Amino acid sequence: MRDNARVTAEDWIDRDAAVVWHGFTQMAAYPDNAPVIVERAEGHELIDVDGRRYLDAVSSLWLSTLGHRVPELDDALRAQLDRVAHSTMLGNGNRIVIELAESLARVVPVDDPRFLFASDGASAVEQALRIAFQHWHNLGVAGRTQYLAFGDAYHGDTIGALSLGAGGFGTDLFDPLRFPVLRAPSFADPSSISVAVELIGAHADTLAAVVVEPLVQAAGGVLVVEPDDMARLARACRDHGVLLICDEIVTGFGRTGTLFASDRCGIRPDLLCLGKGMTAGYLPMSATVVAGAVAASFLGPDLSTRTLFHGHSYGGNALAAAVALRHLQLLDERDILTNVEHRSAQLHHALVDRILPLPGVRDVRTCGLIAAVELEDFDADPLRARRTSVAAVGRGVLLRSLGPNILVVPPLSISALEIDRVVDTLALALADAVDDHPVAADD
Ligand code: PMP
Repeated sequence: MRDNARVTAEDWIDRDAAVVWHGFTQMAAYPDNAPVIVERAEGHELIDVDGRRYLDAVSSLWLSTLGHRVPELDDALRAQLDRVAHSTMLGNGNRIVIELAESLARVVPVDDPRFLFASDGASAVEQALRIAFQHWHNLGVAGRTQYLAFGDAYHGDTIGALSLGAGGFGTDLFDPLRFPVLRAPSFADPSSISVAVELIGAHADTLAAVVVEPLVQAAGGVLVVEPDDMARLARACRDHGVLLICDEIVTGFGRTGTLFASDRCGIRPDLLCLGKGMTAGYLPMSATVVAGAVAASFLGPDLSTRTLFHGHSYGGNALAAAVALRHLQLLDERDILTNVEHRSAQLHHALVDRILPLPGVRDVRTCGLIAAVELEDFDADPLRARRTSVAAVGRGVLLRSLGPNILVVPPLSISALEIDRVVDTLALALADAVDDHPVAADD
């Protein structure tokens, strides 16, 4: 460390790289990619250890809905701290968790819902897989053991979620660990849903469930399908008696303009996975929401094999539940969905009008407040999107790249001025990132 009197962000980056392993990050390159070492935050801005401010235009990885340090959420958390931080949900209950589940039950697009809480999105997906699988077993139906998932799908990083995911992100090496799934084409393929519907018809006898990100494949690069097509998929599941699992870990809690993407599509899945924005980005909480008709097959004698022998230690954390409950109220009180409607239209038009015409930009795609700017020639210059996001950070806007895409996922409470700031910065960063000496990602 250089000067003890003044510890700079650079010192913190060195200390960080010496002991912390960052997810989805090549640690050899980590210090060179402008990591922001956050000390605190105000509203939509993160403030680093040097006092520099960054507009959090990735919502801290698509979590933050109302920005940071929301007074009402801070108060809810403090109040719950004075009661209890956590108590186990295995065989016992907790008042604030019941209140949260009752409030969620009034708004989720699932009939007669039951909530199995966990902490991360991937865990909610794993729970859904286990429940769908065991449901058929409980009913005495044999052979319903596989899942249908889509090309370009992403459902998380645990082995079950990874198996549903289409791969990419260097995960192919884990193929021997992944269980096979029936794979429909990516949403980027216009025949995606039609092929999925055909596959459902042809394989209904062996399918436990169809797993889908309704409306938009987010990590796949913001690939969007029409709500009517999602409805067609849901109808095929219903007609053939196959369970439908909607992964709304990204789309839930207003991200696409309705409280849930399933609402926009007019569908009611049998199982629904929630996470990310559930606690406004405050605390790890996820949930698998299960239709009462599915949950009923698990009822039987105590400790019988009908029981779901699954549950995570921190599932139903009381602090997270208190924040999630207050958050649900705030989305309504602040009419956040109206803001999403206006700001997403603004973002879409700004990207189409000002970013799409820029050199090197191949496409822009948006769905609510999720946007991807896809760059050209990924094979020739695979680090250009990365350099663009690094340049944006240097200009005070936190963006993140994913392959050829730069993802813009601002908080749902973003203002019109802040959307302008993001797009202005992105335009400058794209120019900054034009490089004469592209570096191969796989050296
Ligand atoms: N499902 C989807 C659609 C996701 O995009 C993600 C993460 N981005 C997950 C599941 C996994 O969530 P988590 O990272 O909380 O495990």
